[in-house]
Amino acid sequence: MTNTLRAAVYLRQSKDAEDNRLGVDRQREDCLELCAKRGWSVVEYVDNDLSASVSMPGSRRKYKARPGFERLMADVRDGKVDAIVSWDADRLYRHPRELEDIIDMANQKQLALATIGGDFDLGTPTGRGTARMKGVFARMEMEQKSARQKRANKQLRESGRWNPAGSRPYAYDSKTGVPIEFEAKLLKKAATDVLNGKSLRGLCLEWNDSGILTSTGAQWTNLVLRRSLLNPVYAGLVVHEGEVVAQGKWEPLWSVKQHEGLKAFLSQRASRSKVAFIRQHMLSGVAKCGECGGRLYLVRPNPSRSAYSCRTRGSGHVARKAAPLEEHVTLEVLRYLSECDVATGLRESTPEVDTDALRAQRASLKAKKGELATLLRTGILDADDVTRESQIITKDIAAIDAQLDQATKAGPLAALMADADDTEGLPADDDQLLAYVSALADPEHLAQLQEQLAEQDHPLTAEQIVPHISLDNLNLIRRWLAASADIQGKVIDQLFDVTVQKSTPGVRTFDPALVSVVPKK
Ligand SMILES: [Zn+2]
Repeated sequence: MTNTLRAAVYLRQSKDAEDNRLGVDRQREDCLELCAKRGWSVVEYVDNDLSASVSMPGSRRKYKARPGFERLMADVRDGKVDAIVSWDADRLYRHPRELEDIIDMANQKQLALATIGGDFDLGTPTGRGTARMKGVFARMEMEQKSARQKRANKQLRESGRWNPAGSRPYAYDSKTGVPIEFEAKLLKKAATDVLNGKSLRGLCLEWNDSGILTSTGAQWTNLVLRRSLLNPVYAGLVVHEGEVVAQGKWEPLWSVKQHEGLKAFLSQRASRSKVAFIRQHMLSGVAKCGECGGRLYLVRPNPSRSAYSCRTRGSGHVARKAAPLEEHVTLEVLRYLSECDVATGLRESTPEVDTDALRAQRASLKAKKGELATLLRTGILDADDVTRESQIITKDIAAIDAQLDQATKAGPLAALMADADDTEGLPADDDQLLAYVSALADPEHLAQLQEQLAEQDHPLTAEQIVPHISLDNLNLIRRWLAASADIQGKVIDQLFDVTVQKSTPGVRTFDPALVSVVPKK
């Protein structure tokens, strides 16, 4: 025979840990030896069962993708292969269906099948029967192994040994369960930060920006960080099928109490963010029609044109372009906020709640919380004490915020000022703020400033532009501009009557004289 037989050597890495004796290298060595003995030419096909599972069409079970096997079958179909060589029959196929494909192919193409343990002549009933039986036994053995493994897992978990399911828990070595110092530090800090009110989003942004990735090498998302912080593994708890079954023997990152705290805190935050109605446009349901007194709502005939319109449509009722109307009302509100007596305004708007006292209390709690760090540093308190104290203070602050929140329903100004002691959270002086305060500034002073500005190269601050406004009032303005359209609308509705008069038919430019913004008595 002049033609050399073309052999396809199929190698498969099994995921079965007990099967490591049969790595791909060992399989290759034996198969190549067999081919060499017989004088066959060789093409290799390799699959790795450690890769991801895929769903087979028409089946709910997931199977490992086997691109190598599929390539092999395609080459057999195309007549590029005369023989298949694999270490054992159960290396070649894991499912009876796959064997039947090979048998069909063998019948059509006169395909030889060789294994280290012996050849199967798939052209004879005995050969096919042997191949099938080997497959059945391999499968049975695999299933028994898997059941044994499950029982072993359960026992392991009950004995509290390190044995996490799924991907590596962040901050732990996946094999030994020993904390990885850098990651553990980071995650512990995140847990405290979150309890202190830092947002998950903020933390994720920070970490992603500094190139800190999850244990699977992905970017952090709110969901992943939240899931991590809620993982009982960090409190040293052993979970089996969703239930805590034992105390683990590995070093926890935080106490079971803190774990419970995180659970309570993170679930409370989730429910708080569910808000039924949020105004998207600040004057929706706030400004009134000059004809009938009905409220105006935003309508958008096309994306570039939005307008506030009376719901009683038709001649006589009011519709006004949204952008200039909002701009005009905003300026009026800011003028008011720049002049109002902040403290009196708050007292008047919230007669039943002493928001001054609450705010003072809140500020002292925040200061106390700051001291905790010092006490920890100086060794007067240990980390557990600090965590416990910090949780208590966080709870107290939340209670005060709830009261201030309550007061807010009566007086939205309180919402703007609730954090008045905390100027860190204020937005930076952006172009929008500077443009608005420039409109409030004394024109002469502004002209002077602009002359000075030509000489210095750093930008103006709001304080420079409007030095006559007290810091409280300026902060009120900052907060108002940073507030959502919903809060802005609430504040306007509480402080002003905004009425829009109808314009002369045919006149398209915005006339501020037709809009009255009158403080409520
Ligand atoms: Zn109307």
